[in-house]
Amino acid sequence: MSYQDGSQGTAVENATGAPVVELVDVQRHFGATPALDGVSLSVQKGEILGIIGRSGAGKSTLIRCLNGLERPDSGSVIIEGQDIAKLPESALHPLRRRIGMIFQHFNLLSAKTVIENVALPLKIEGRGRAERLTRAAELLDLVGLSDKRDAYPAQLSGGQKQRVGIARALAARPSLLLSDEATSALDPETTRSILDLLKRINRELGLTVVLITHEMEVVRAIGDRVAVIDKGKIVEEGPVWSVFSNPAADITRRLLAGILPELPAHLAATLPPGTRLVQVDFAGNLDDGRLVLDRSSESRAFRILHGGVDYVQERPVGRFFIAVNDTADLDPFLATVRASGARAEVLVR
Ligand code: ADP
Repeated sequence: MSYQDGSQGTAVENATGAPVVELVDVQRHFGATPALDGVSLSVQKGEILGIIGRSGAGKSTLIRCLNGLERPDSGSVIIEGQDIAKLPESALHPLRRRIGMIFQHFNLLSAKTVIENVALPLKIEGRGRAERLTRAAELLDLVGLSDKRDAYPAQLSGGQKQRVGIARALAARPSLLLSDEATSALDPETTRSILDLLKRINRELGLTVVLITHEMEVVRAIGDRVAVIDKGKIVEEGPVWSVFSNPAADITRRLLAGILPELPAHLAATLPPGTRLVQVDFAGNLDDGRLVLDRSSESRAFRILHGGVDYVQERPVGRFFIAVNDTADLDPFLATVRASGARAEVLVR
């Protein structure tokens, strides 16, 4: 296997034609702060792109540039072939309707019922009442909330509110859905159900999704591709499984901590003197994991301390920590592992 291995036909690779979104060298400074410092990105039709970064990295500024709420100092923000950075405000309104948006705090109107909230974008578009209600009812069915059509937001759980938010975002049949930390206020189980819903909508409707998050779990759950932003720059970008299995930037590794197995400190501290500690990372091919298991079963000098295999975009991504006795010959093992395409790093020699 190799980390640069081809892939199994995700939305990204299957996409054809011009990108739905293209950012070219976007700069946006606030005084001396470069919130966006030369961001270039493209999003293909039908893909889910996760943009991840720590607080202050520039995510909100990026999403505000995407929906035209913020103008870059320079660079292009091209949505469906149109550079919105150069459009006058009046021309932005119809374009914004092509973009659906969901938010961390849902932004529902508390005095309106669920179905009225969902129908609101159509009212703004000037659609007739019958059409609005038919479309809104269809969308409530899609998000599994038909029985709540006449409830008010205050009567709903967080997950139900976000379902209403999603239905509303889809009302005007957008070509792009922007998600701004849409699951950050939800518990893990509800987060999972909302992410599943977004993925289903993406696959069933072919809707392009850009989601901004600070949680790698969100990206892992539904992203096709991920872009990591730090200090206003995209520092790393690629298919999710590839970035997870072979992160290049320090910040990506830090964001991944807690998702990939880390060696518990007490294990490293109690190794007998002379023991070598090796970390093996592999992706795409389970045989690389088997290699580690085989070696540890055939020789007591190789002991698996910690680790396991997970699946990202249906590909195995694994990590093992192995203690190797001072008597064993480490180099042939490292050579075999590396020859298979996996990574092996000696943490303690
Ligand atoms: P994130 O959403 O990743 O937390 P932001 O895009 O909100 O990051 O912010 C990026 C940087 O730009 C931060 O240093 C922030 O303080 C600064 N910034 C954002 N918006 C403004 C603003 N309106 N005025 C001044 N500074 C801002």
